[in-house]
Amino acid sequence: MQYQKILDTIKEELSTKQNKGKVASYIPELAKVDPNKFGMHLYCINSGHYGFGNEEEQFSIQSISKVFSLTLAMSLLNDELFERVDVEPSGDPFNSLVQLEYENGIPRNPLINSGALVIADILVSTLDNPKKQLLDFIHEITGNTGININLKVFNSEKKYSNRNASLLHLMKSFGNVKNDIETVLDLYIFQCSIAMSCKELATAFMVYANSGRTLFDKKQIISERKIKRINAIMQTCGFYDEAGEFSFRVGLPGKSGVGGGIAAIHPGQYAVTTWSPPLNPKGNSELGMYALERLTTLTGFSIF
Ligand code: GLN
Repeated sequence: MQYQKILDTIKEELSTKQNKGKVASYIPELAKVDPNKFGMHLYCINSGHYGFGNEEEQFSIQSISKVFSLTLAMSLLNDELFERVDVEPSGDPFNSLVQLEYENGIPRNPLINSGALVIADILVSTLDNPKKQLLDFIHEITGNTGININLKVFNSEKKYSNRNASLLHLMKSFGNVKNDIETVLDLYIFQCSIAMSCKELATAFMVYANSGRTLFDKKQIISERKIKRINAIMQTCGFYDEAGEFSFRVGLPGKSGVGGGIAAIHPGQYAVTTWSPPLNPKGNSELGMYALERLTTLTGFSIF
């Protein structure tokens, strides 16, 4: 497969495409990012790396971090974790409160805000130093100890976190948050403010494409069974109320973030990441989705 040629075609198409998306502004620091940035990186299990554009520039991974925190929690706990968070697509926006009311404070899945906040609560209960241990986990799966948070993004989201605080309060009223709300919120905002490039994210997501093993040092990070489950959750829940549309158009398990990043995988084949800050109305990167749709169309490689 001539991957670089295919990426060059996508790059060419993107250069003529009008971007109707809007950069997220509810976290003020994110609104400062140049909307014209675009990076893409494809990391194949058997046939190398390919990419173009701003693939080495770090951006705020935001909700993509929910996959890492879920993986860390699943590596520490077994099925009891799923008594506190469900695995159904929500069909609602990422920060919605509505379902919690009639589902007794149990979030629909771990990849929406409520679910990721419960996972953060679990990490606070289980780990001595959850922030450090989450970063250590990302260092382990990327082989890069330089990855850290963007402090400006962290401070910016801290100031505008009433919505996530309200999710925590509601869930705590049902007994599904065990720790102090400020501590859990702090960990959640910390994980969202982690900065990574497309290249670094593709390396990290290789674990999900490669049956739970890193490709660079062949280390089994988490069991194959658990990776299969995480990939299933990404497939059904990774794009909030656009998970169906992403499956329909792209056909890969993946996860988006409001920083404009998307990471997706083809089990046994590759990990692919895109970064373009302007988002569609559902909070997913407009051009990122387009580029990934073109990738699976031009390669003929989707999971379907
Ligand atoms: N930090 C963001 C929030 O909680 C993450 C949302 C996202 O990326 N969808 O609002």
